[in-house]
Amino acid sequence: MKIIMLGAPGAGKGTQAKMIAERYGIPHVSTGDILRANIKNGTELGAKAKTYMDQGLLVPDDLVVDLVIDRFREADCQNGYILDGFPRTIPQAEALDRALQAIGESVDYAINVEVPDENIVRRMSGRRACVSCGATYHIVYNPTKVENICDVCGGELILRDDDKPETVQNRLSVYHDQTQPLIEYYNKKGILQQVDGTVDMKDVFAAICKILGE
Ligand code: ADP
Ligand code: ADP
Ligand code: ZN
Repeated sequence: MKIIMLGAPGAGKGTQAKMIAERYGIPHVSTGDILRANIKNGTELGAKAKTYMDQGLLVPDDLVVDLVIDRFREADCQNGYILDGFPRTIPQAEALDRALQAIGESVDYAINVEVPDENIVRRMSGRRACVSCGATYHIVYNPTKVENICDVCGGELILRDDDKPETVQNRLSVYHDQTQPLIEYYNKKGILQQVDGTVDMKDVFAAICKILGE
């Protein structure tokens, strides 16, 4: 099963993708997580990507596409995967289609998590990420058991630099310009599924499970 998660920054793609990955036994592939790991490890790719990410801009397509396509070739992706944060532009979607077509495959579901812009800033300013394992929480909607300590690994929680309100506005306009057109792209292919992302996390998850089949 190959699934793409679509939605604005902060819509809950990562939160849902982690739960889907666990339930269906497929890997969660997040380009944001891969890029942040590259920054943390001081790679050349990380250094290039950081200049864009800090401004809330997209990293150029050629840097991201190869990264994702290489990831698919790994053994754990043979039964499918859930893509979170990729594709983010029409050229990325076309590159993905070409790579899959070349091996006789295609995407099964594109799930769009709908959340209006008004809710996004509140989501992002309350988001906290674990520096060690990448788990995400929200100070109000999904708090940790102990303040500022990751439930999963005991790591420290931080507010991502690009989740500060001034950068969030940029990311939202980049989303509307460059990523939102993917909704129509996948609609035309007949694989688009819409879910209401404003309800409680577990209700969003239930709606997605219904689409995917329990
Ligand atoms: P969000 O929580 O907003 O969905 P991500 O963690 O997916 O954020 O991405 C953080 C940043 O990483 C983006 O703002 C962008 O700079 C970069 N990025 C992640 N995925 C891609 C992609 N597919 N194409 C270009 N840039 C990307
Ligand atoms: P994305 O990957 O789309 O950027 P996240 O999954 O990281 O989004 O979610 C953004 C923030 O909103 C996180 O702090 C998360 O805990 C919180 N969140 C996710 N889903 C919901 C929901 N249904 N209701 C309230 N808060 C949510
Ligand atoms: Zn952790």
